[in-house]
Amino acid sequence: MSKVYLIGAGPGDPGLLTIKAERALKKADVVMYDRLVSAEVLLLANPEAELIYVGKREGEQEATQQVIFDLMLGFARAGKTVARLKGGDACVFGRGGEEWRLLARHGIEVETIPGVSSALAAPALAGVPLTYRGLSRGFAVVTGHSCSAIRWADYARVDTLVILMGVKERAAIAGELIRVGRPASDPAVFIERATTAEERVIETTLGEVAAGRVDVESPAVFVMGAVAGLRAELAAVVREEAAA
Ligand code: SAH
Repeated sequence: MSKVYLIGAGPGDPGLLTIKAERALKKADVVMYDRLVSAEVLLLANPEAELIYVGKREGEQEATQQVIFDLMLGFARAGKTVARLKGGDACVFGRGGEEWRLLARHGIEVETIPGVSSALAAPALAGVPLTYRGLSRGFAVVTGHSCSAIRWADYARVDTLVILMGVKERAAIAGELIRVGRPASDPAVFIERATTAEERVIETTLGEVAAGRVDVESPAVFVMGAVAGLRAELAAVVREEAAA
């Protein structure tokens, strides 16, 4: 019986892949992977497996999604074991749920292997705990894509707010959040290319982001709230070691 493994590949560092994900990668005949899946993770695949890049560029989302569906269905129907690899967790953005639904509708067996989402891993590694007694009772993860369609007032009052895909429209997002009640003094952190050799962390405030004074490149996790102010203390030791 053919099977599709819907696998979260984690944020980049292969050490953050689950043991189940590694086993499935070794078993698969075909590995279909997205743009944010790191080369180090792909090295764990069975050397005999066919590796297919199905990452999308902006503007061609719809066309490519159809091609991905067709390819996956084709391989599954041909009796192949498919590893569908997505960055972070496969069910946090990136259309994992949609691919799963389509496969289910066609009677194809899907096994989901959760991954470490960048929404959780990037802040944690940067010294920003998403919850903290007395500072944050909870967090929300929201997309910054199509920023004007999002009801920011619903998110403004969440203690810790994590925004994915928010680099491009960061100034508009921050401006809107301030307009609906988040303080401009709210500490904010961007974690660029988390867990890779190019990782960069930018500490700022919501007001600075709104003013367009923060330089950051995609992919990055944008996190704000009182916990973002803990970074100075929590990451200080790591920084001293790096400098030594
Ligand atoms: N499924 C993924 C999210 C896909 S949406 C997950 O669970 O992590 C793509 C967005 O994820 C990017 O725009 C960025 O905000 C974030 N992202 C993914 N990998 C990242 C990384 N290594 N470093 C920083 N941000 C990352």
